[in-house]
Amino acid sequence: MDYQKIIEEVYEEVQSENLRGKVADYIPELANVDPIQFGIGLVDLDGNVFGVGDYEVPFSIQSISKVHTLVMVFHVFKSKLWSRVNVEPSGNPFNSIAQLEFEKGIPRNPFINAGALVITDALCSKFENPIEQISNYINELSGKSCVRINSSVKESEKNHAERNTALAYFLKAYQNFENEVDEVLDVYFSHCAMEMSCVDLARSFSFLANDGYSIFADREIVSESHARRINALMLTCGFYDEAGEFAFRVGLPGKSGVGGGVAAVMPHKFSIAVWSPELNEKGNSVKAIRALELLTDKLSFSLF
Ligand code: GLN
Repeated sequence: MDYQKIIEEVYEEVQSENLRGKVADYIPELANVDPIQFGIGLVDLDGNVFGVGDYEVPFSIQSISKVHTLVMVFHVFKSKLWSRVNVEPSGNPFNSIAQLEFEKGIPRNPFINAGALVITDALCSKFENPIEQISNYINELSGKSCVRINSSVKESEKNHAERNTALAYFLKAYQNFENEVDEVLDVYFSHCAMEMSCVDLARSFSFLANDGYSIFADREIVSESHARRINALMLTCGFYDEAGEFAFRVGLPGKSGVGGGVAAVMPHKFSIAVWSPELNEKGNSVKAIRALELLTDKLSFSLF
């Protein structure tokens, strides 16, 4: 399979379509990125790297980091974790608070903000230096030291944190939050403000395409059964209220972030990250989704 040729074709086709969206601006610092950047990085299971466009430019991974933190926490707490967070698609925006009351403080899934805050809370209970641990973990998965926290993005989000703070206090009111709200939010904003390039992000997701074994870390990160479950969660919940559409158009487990990145895996074949900052109204990158749709069409395979 000539992945390099295919992603170059995809890149050209997407560029010719002139798709536009809107850069996230509720975190003001994210609005300062150059909106026309676009990159695709793909890594196969032999570790070969394929890239086009801005695939080596670091960008704000935002909610894609929720996959890394979930993997860390799932590994420690195993199935006990699911008493604190459910595994159902929410059909609601990523920052919605509505369902949390009906479901008595148990978030619908670990990828909406409420669920990710529970995961970060669990990380804070387990690790002394959670921010350092998360960075080290992602670096290990990528096989190199590539993670940098952008402190301006972190501060920018911290200064506009009303919704996430409300979610955290709501969780605390239902006794589903063990640590201090400010402490957990600080860790949450730090992992959302991590920056990586498409190619390094694809490397960090490679173990999910490889039954839990990372060729870059050279060890089993999670069991095969845990890898399948993380992929199922990405497929059903990775794009919030657009998860159905992503499954329909692309058909791969994946996760988006409001920095404009999408990471996805084709089990037993490759992991891929696509980045372009302009988002649709659901907060997912317009070009990244289109690129992945064209990719699975050209490859003639997806999970389905
Ligand atoms: N840091 C962002 C937030 O909490 C992440 C959202 C996202 O990427 N969907 O709002």
